[in-house]
Amino acid sequence: MAPVKRTALVTGGNRGIGFEACHELAKAGLQVVLTARDPERGREAADRLVGEGLEVVLEHMDVASEESVAQCAARLEAARIDVDVLINNAAIYPTSSFFGTSERTMLETVQVNLLGPFRTCRAFVPRMVRRGYGRVVNVSSDIGSINAGVPGPAAYGITKAALHALTRRLAREVPSDVKVNAMSPGWVRTDMGGHAAPRSVEQACDTLVWLATLPADGPTDGFFRDRRPIPW
Ligand code: NAP
Repeated sequence: MAPVKRTALVTGGNRGIGFEACHELAKAGLQVVLTARDPERGREAADRLVGEGLEVVLEHMDVASEESVAQCAARLEAARIDVDVLINNAAIYPTSSFFGTSERTMLETVQVNLLGPFRTCRAFVPRMVRRGYGRVVNVSSDIGSINAGVPGPAAYGITKAALHALTRRLAREVPSDVKVNAMSPGWVRTDMGGHAAPRSVEQACDTLVWLATLPADGPTDGFFRDRRPIPW
C-alpha cells in the first residue's frame, strides 16, 4: 500500500526558517501549505518552491488576526485540504529589556508569538484529533526556557515561555496519536538571527522536520534541540 500523503501547514513560510521548513517538508514528500501574512512575499516564496517541482500551495494567514486564521482554515476545509502537520513558526523579536518594553510592544508580541499558535491550534488540531493523526511543532527558543531564567529580550522570552506552557497543556488535552512538541532551532542566520549566527536554516530544520514526521511511537509534550530533549 502506498504511504499516506500528509499535508503540513507552516506559518510565516515566506522567509527564514519557515521558508526552509516548507522546502524540506515538501522535499520529504508532504504537500505543503505555505502561509504568509503578505500575499506578494508569499507568492514569490511559493513560486520558488513550485519552480523546483515541489507540491506547495499558498495561503494568506496573519497569525495576529483571529479572523485571518479562521478564514484560512475555512478556505482549506472548502478545498478539502486536511492539515495533518502544523508548524507554528511565525514570530516577532522585539529586543527590549523588561522595563524598556511598552505595553503596546508586549501586546503585539503576545498577538503573534502566543495567540498566533493558540489560534492555529484551535483551528486545526480538533480535526487532527477526529482523524486520529496529527503533529504540531511549536518553534520556540532557548530564550523561552524557564529553567534557564528566560534570558534575552523580555517580550520575546516571556511569550516563548508561554508557548511552552501552551505546548504542554495542549499535549495533555489530545490523544497520543496527535503529538505536540516544541523545539529550539539554536541561533540561526536569518533576518531575525542576523549574519553572525553560527547555524544555517537547513540545520535549524533538521529537528523541525523530525518532529513533523514522528512515527506513532514518537515523543509528545517535549522541548527539543538537535533531536534531544532539553529542559523547559
Ligand atoms: P524571521 O526571519 O524574522 O522570519 C519571521 C517570519 O514570521 C516571517 O515570515 C514573517 O513574515 C513571519 N511573521 C511575523 N509576524 C507574522 C504574522 N503576524 N503573521 C504571519 N507571519 C508573521 O525569523 P526566523 O529566524 O526565521 O524565525 C522563525 C522562528 O524561529 C521563530 O519562531 C523564531 O522565534 C524562532 N527562532 C529563531 C532563531 C534565530 O536565531 N533565527 C532562534 C531561536 C528561535 P513577514 O515576512 O511578513 O514579516
